[in-house]
Amino acid sequence: MGGPDNYYRACGNPFAAQPPLAGTVRVDLCVIGGGFTGMAAALAAAESGRKVVVLEAETVGYGASGRNGGQLIPGLRWSAGELVETFGLARAQAIYQVAMMAVDRVAARIAKHDIACDFKHGHFEAAWKPSHFAAMARETELLARDFGRLELELVEPADTGRHVSTELYHGGVFDQRGGHFHPLNYVRGLAEAALAAGATIHEGTRVTAIREGRTVEAVTAHGSVIADQLIVAADAWTGDLLPSARGFTVPIMNYNIATAPLGSLADKLIPGDAAIADSRFVLNYFRLSADKRLIFGGGEKYRQSPPSSITEFVRPYMAEVFPRLSRTPIDYGWGGIVSVTMNRLPHLVRRDNIWIAHGFSGHGALLTTLAGELLVEAIDGDGDAFDTLAALPHRRFPGGPFLAKPLASLGLLYYALKDRL
Ligand SMILES: Cc1cc2nc3c(=O)[nH]c(=O)nc-3n(C[C@H](O)[C@H](O)[C@H](O)COP(=O)(O)OP(=O)(O)OC[C@H]3O[C@@H](n4cnc5c(N)ncnc54)[C@H](O)[C@@H]3O)c2cc1C
Repeated sequence: MGGPDNYYRACGNPFAAQPPLAGTVRVDLCVIGGGFTGMAAALAAAESGRKVVVLEAETVGYGASGRNGGQLIPGLRWSAGELVETFGLARAQAIYQVAMMAVDRVAARIAKHDIACDFKHGHFEAAWKPSHFAAMARETELLARDFGRLELELVEPADTGRHVSTELYHGGVFDQRGGHFHPLNYVRGLAEAALAAGATIHEGTRVTAIREGRTVEAVTAHGSVIADQLIVAADAWTGDLLPSARGFTVPIMNYNIATAPLGSLADKLIPGDAAIADSRFVLNYFRLSADKRLIFGGGEKYRQSPPSSITEFVRPYMAEVFPRLSRTPIDYGWGGIVSVTMNRLPHLVRRDNIWIAHGFSGHGALLTTLAGELLVEAIDGDGDAFDTLAALPHRRFPGGPFLAKPLASLGLLYYALKDRL
């Protein structure tokens, strides 16, 4: 998993291996995890003059950040309607506004550091059934009226083909502020920028324990880092490191494939080169790579064991959307862990000098850069936006250490089945 079968690794920009930690180091900020969250935090902290060290168990981008669908989906997993219903209009607007900051933060990083990650604008959410389209029409109206999202475009069912050439969908919403990118190249670009700003990154350095106190110590097999502040950006692995964070997320296996390059057919399948995701709970999501492959994600597994063939596991989902690709060669298939919270909103927490952001629930490609930066801003004393997200209510999955995952699986299966009706 994540080896030669990961398309992004096969074609990623070079990134020089960073040496493991050896000995004891004293810093202002220690970051655990070299994904989007950790690298965004390290970069922001190094820019503001802090001495910062990142400890990454494997390599930069080893986790979800180097494996995901590359879909940049503005907002949160909740609709604006759900936010208003739960929190009232004013608080919903504040939450949504913070979440939308992620769009500009990612674009700003790419522009400032000239990150070559095939960044493209445009995201299309395709309606799986007519009732989903009706809900999208209500949501688009609400977003334009109360959230200032005037640029969202409701695409009538008859016009679906402008974005995706399939009979499967019933219109949708086109969001020019969304988009897609090569995720591994983006995180490697953040890492290069963090190094240039003075951060130190240690790959192959797994943190085995955290010692809390006035300073905090991240312990590894060959040394430790003593820091004033610690950011835990280990997403799916956060609970392994910090018992207090355990139970707030469950890991869901998700799989992607990359077809052989499709040449001119690619632009016929996705004429506007947008990223496409459908409106189901367990969704299909797909887009074109720079070399005109279809990168397709579909199906979820609630057990960690991979399917015997990832390509054959995902292929039927792709063939359902594009029957003409049912025999197209698939060059790569890989999987990763999506870390999901109970309510599918991200979980940001502060405990004294320990800061945590995890559980981005499939929306992390944009939100993680924001989260990493907000943690650093909050450490700097500018915590308003951090507080807005940290105040989102979260509960542990029921069932404790043994039953949480099976119970969550059952719950998720229920929603997946509802979509099929
Ligand atoms: C297959 C797949 C498809 C996805 N598609 C999308 C998508 O299209 N759009 C979207 O918005 N989101 C998507 N996501 C989710 C998104 O990728 C994540 O939300 C995001 O990458 C999380 O970033 P992160 O930096 O918080 O965590 P990660 O990228 O997982 O980084 C955590 C890092 O911590 C390291 N680590 C763990 N334990 C330790 C330790 N003890 N010591 C040191 N280091 C440690 C890991 O090695 C890892 O590199 C997808 C996820 C997957 C798996």
